[in-house]
Amino acid sequence: MRVLFCLGLFLLLAGCRSAVGMAGAPDECKFNRLFSWNVPKNEEDFERCSQAGVTDIVVHNQRQYDLALKYGMTPYWRCFIPAGPHPQVMTSEEEKHFAYINGQDIDKKAPDRMKEIHRRRRELKHRYGGEQEAPLDTLNNTRIPCFASDTDLSLSRQKLNDLLKDVPPDNKGMFLDFFGYMNHRGCYCEGCIARYKHYLKEHNLEDSSKNKDEFYTQQLLDYYEGIIGYIKSKHPDFKIVAHFYPDFRPDHLYGNRTKVDFCGQTVAWYFKWPSPKIKQYTKYVTEHAKDYYPFAEGVPFVGLNTDASSSLGFKTPEELEQELKVILAAGGRTLMVCDGRCIIEPGYFEVFRKYCGK
Ligand SMILES: [Zn+2]
Repeated sequence: MRVLFCLGLFLLLAGCRSAVGMAGAPDECKFNRLFSWNVPKNEEDFERCSQAGVTDIVVHNQRQYDLALKYGMTPYWRCFIPAGPHPQVMTSEEEKHFAYINGQDIDKKAPDRMKEIHRRRRELKHRYGGEQEAPLDTLNNTRIPCFASDTDLSLSRQKLNDLLKDVPPDNKGMFLDFFGYMNHRGCYCEGCIARYKHYLKEHNLEDSSKNKDEFYTQQLLDYYEGIIGYIKSKHPDFKIVAHFYPDFRPDHLYGNRTKVDFCGQTVAWYFKWPSPKIKQYTKYVTEHAKDYYPFAEGVPFVGLNTDASSSLGFKTPEELEQELKVILAAGGRTLMVCDGRCIIEPGYFEVFRKYCGK
């Protein structure tokens, strides 16, 4: 019995590269891959990102692409955001909420405008697209197009063609973002309502919240399928990196049902989550990554903001370190972070270098 236990412990430690030769505890494990959202400002910051352990990064132009390569990181050529003929449609209550948390009634030149906007967002427990804590929440500022109404993906294909027209020949892949609903549930435009009614009729179903959720899940899955299929028809070797955002309320972790190669799903949001939740989500994201597609890799995503004055959640470097330890202990060995620029902020840089650096 004891031999078996020791063998298990040995195997556990052997999986952690920094433990080799150190006979250390499991918390000396490290991440072997770090995906960063947002591009460093200048060359010095690219170098620091690399020192912090960033291995994979989104870029928007040739200069950034070259700098990423120079510092040993894999660049991904641009980020695709859904296209559609019109913005998503929400209920009037959701529209009211959207207008309020975005201060649409406040004079654009009012000196305390942002302060009041942050106050309102705190007041209503706005979660910036993450899991809701209030009964009602919407995105801030962003109006996502109704991608489901992009017939035959004609607008999306055009947008992808534009993004990829000057792609470097040795590029390895692309990022995807904002595949979701502004109200975390669905779009209520005429087209979506008509498609929903047709779906009910076709499957002989009644109008219920369960069937509605399944319908809007399917619209999301179909869009991922169409976009990834189109990218890979042009560039079969591209790897697709995504963060599943905004949160889809009926199913927070549906990402493994898509053909995304590096499937970034939130295990720790900008707002502090309890450790047991981070642990549970990390286990799901990593252990169930291949339930549908064997090539998929589940990547735990962490939201990070280093500005304490914002209504976006804030973490100290110590709190960040605690979260990384929980993710490692739960089996996470890859990591995805937004905002990537926070990775090199003083205090946070040291934490990333410790757990992700070479
Ligand atoms: Zn719609």
